[in-house]
Amino acid sequence: MGAAVQSVRLELAALLEQLEQYASAADEYGAPQKEALAALRRSGLLGSLVPSEYGGLGQNALFASRFIEAIAGVDPSIAIIAFQHLSVVSRILEWGSAAQRQQYLPKLADGRWLAASAWSETGAGANKQNLSTKAVQLDDGQWLIEGTKSFTTGAGLADLYLVLVQTGTNDEQSTYGNSSQTFFLIETTQGITADADTNLAGMRGSSTGFIHLNKCLVSSEQFIGSLGGAPTVINGIRSCGLTLGAVSLGISQAAYELALEHVRSKGLKNSPLLQSALSELHLSLEAVRALVDKVASKEGGEHLAKIAYQSKIFASEASEKICREAQQIIGGSSYVRGRKLERLLRDARAVSLMGPVNRLAKEIIGKELVS
Ligand SMILES: Cc1cc2nc3c(=O)[nH]c(=O)nc-3n(C[C@H](O)[C@H](O)[C@H](O)COP(=O)(O)OP(=O)(O)OC[C@H]3O[C@@H](n4cnc5c(N)ncnc54)[C@H](O)[C@@H]3O)c2cc1C
Repeated sequence: MGAAVQSVRLELAALLEQLEQYASAADEYGAPQKEALAALRRSGLLGSLVPSEYGGLGQNALFASRFIEAIAGVDPSIAIIAFQHLSVVSRILEWGSAAQRQQYLPKLADGRWLAASAWSETGAGANKQNLSTKAVQLDDGQWLIEGTKSFTTGAGLADLYLVLVQTGTNDEQSTYGNSSQTFFLIETTQGITADADTNLAGMRGSSTGFIHLNKCLVSSEQFIGSLGGAPTVINGIRSCGLTLGAVSLGISQAAYELALEHVRSKGLKNSPLLQSALSELHLSLEAVRALVDKVASKEGGEHLAKIAYQSKIFASEASEKICREAQQIIGGSSYVRGRKLERLLRDARAVSLMGPVNRLAKEIIGKELVS
């Protein structure tokens, strides 16, 4: 066991070293670099959550969270690609049939296949209502799916997509991800094409863009969860220990380290002003870490789903603040295009706008609190 953990550590160190080399090129060109993706696939770490019987590392959510955090400190774009992969894996682990597990987990564990989540749409973005991606059941029982998903991270890279589809009719009470919607696992070769040329402001190396479902013909065996089971599956995601807060935590840690290094290396260690500023950043970092680790350790009992959203909200808001404060400490040189901190700040902003946008996540929690 000790040797296995040591070997995983070495894999992670080697992966981070490689990602560091390609992160700014990905940001500059607005696309992930193939060498970075190859290193991620090779690392074996995409199989963190997959049980060893399917060729994975059989680790828990805390391990996966630390892995995401570490990558985010170097390249947050690659971290969200890995995050989406792990969250699809966790859905297959929780809801997948024996056949789905057998078919997909070995490929997803060793990095031969990448997985992505395609829930959002233009016009049904944050709240996932009124989806225009619809499935119609044919006489032979198969489903015909057509539509376009927006903001899919890993678009064009993934071999397998977890797609949220309208399978019934919304009523007036329908809320975020409702019971007229179903998740399907759809392979790229079943009729998915991608357009990731979205020119995002941050997370530019995440291949986040559109996927088009062109008359995909799929069977009921491709459901994740049951027909109309979207709310249950979504709730499960909130309680599985994975939180985008881990991405924000990695960004915050990296920003803090850049500020600390600046103070140390520029002979500023004795400045009370900077000591106090660093102390505040460190305090925020500790608070974020406590919350993210709490979720990843699945502490919180019946409140875990709520705390998971809270950790994402808190961590993403803190990471923007920490990046901005780190810029104040370092000064103008950190505002130069292409400097790591300048990139981290743009990447940090994106987490507030995803999974879902913080404003909506707050509303969902608020509703839960009063009901
Ligand atoms: C970098 C990045 C990566 C992403 N990756 C993925 C991914 O891999 N998969 C995926 O499915 N999605 C992904 N998303 C999409 C993300 O999760 C949100 O769905 C999306 O950003 C919402 O944007 P929109 O323009 O569609 O917003 P809209 O849905 O149009 O929302 C706009 C505003 O309206 C508010 N709003 C909407 N509905 C409600 C409501 N019911 N109550 C209160 N306020 C509401 C929102 O808070 C928001 O402020 C990603 C987004 C980004 C930025």
